[in-house]
Amino acid sequence: MPALAAHSRSGFAACSGCSLCLLVCPVWRKTRDLRYTPHGRAKALQHGVPVAELKNSVESCTLCGACEPACPEIIDLVGMVLSLRRQLTAPAAVTMNDTNGKTANYAGQRVLLATPALRETVVALERTAKLLDCVVAEDNGADIALALEAGTPIANARRERFLTPLFSAKKIIAGDGLLARQLKDWLPLIEITSPGIALSKCSELRRHLRSDDLYVIEPRAFHANYDELVLYYDDLRHATGCAMNLDLQRIAIPATARNLRQRLGVEAEDNAAQTRWLLQGRKIARIVVEDAGDIAAFRQVVDMPVVHLAELANE
Ligand code: SF4
Ligand code: SF4
Repeated sequence: MPALAAHSRSGFAACSGCSLCLLVCPVWRKTRDLRYTPHGRAKALQHGVPVAELKNSVESCTLCGACEPACPEIIDLVGMVLSLRRQLTAPAAVTMNDTNGKTANYAGQRVLLATPALRETVVALERTAKLLDCVVAEDNGADIALALEAGTPIANARRERFLTPLFSAKKIIAGDGLLARQLKDWLPLIEITSPGIALSKCSELRRHLRSDDLYVIEPRAFHANYDELVLYYDDLRHATGCAMNLDLQRIAIPATARNLRQRLGVEAEDNAAQTRWLLQGRKIARIVVEDAGDIAAFRQVVDMPVVHLAELANE
């Protein structure tokens, strides 16, 4: 079944108040405050609350997308938060990349837009590029991803400088799920996927997954294409025997609960409660993550190997 496009989804007016979104929301788990949930925001908007009064709620969302497949009214919940953020002032300015370096040309190539966390995990970055036979783009669009997240404007000149080298790429492997979602609109003719999905298809990596592994799916890319990927990951789980960060509805529970202020660096991160919840009651010996940004969060709370998926290639 193809993923439902955001424009086919309902708006907040369709919210019935069923509260199913609460079951998967890391912000609900952390705050137990209905105002900080999709249910709370939708009901407030239905009752005419001004957007400015929802600022704290809108900034609290991690944009993990877990609530979308849970919502029986098929509301564009991620799109709703992004739209509300564009109407508010961000808690901090996003520094845009204004270098005017040599323009790359990725015609006919597979291009990796590595997140800052993957760039810092040098071994994982090199193996990802090798396994996926792709070039690592110098301009990874991290500033654009952050501006999308914060709802701040992106100058046309910057957008063009980022997109022009990608126009004739064969495939784009985008590490940031939010950027990938936007790129599908900007570059509709190019195949766009995530490093986690692309790497998990490599037989060289799959054969190293074990039944005592916890395999941590990157939630943004997964939920953006849930209908298709839920079966794919179920097959991977059955083939390898590993555990996954999926709940009973097969929704990916995020390993972190980074809100907008934390993404923008104006507030310290505190992911321990979320990560511990994910690990609760599991008998595992190793954690394998798709998103290099999850490594630090797990290492803070467990004393066992935490590796990026691409690092399995060396075993
Ligand atoms: S996107 Fe994630 S954090 Fe935001 S409301 Fe949905 S489940 Fe909660
Ligand atoms: S799951 Fe959807 S319909 Fe139900 S409360 Fe949440 S947003 Fe509203």
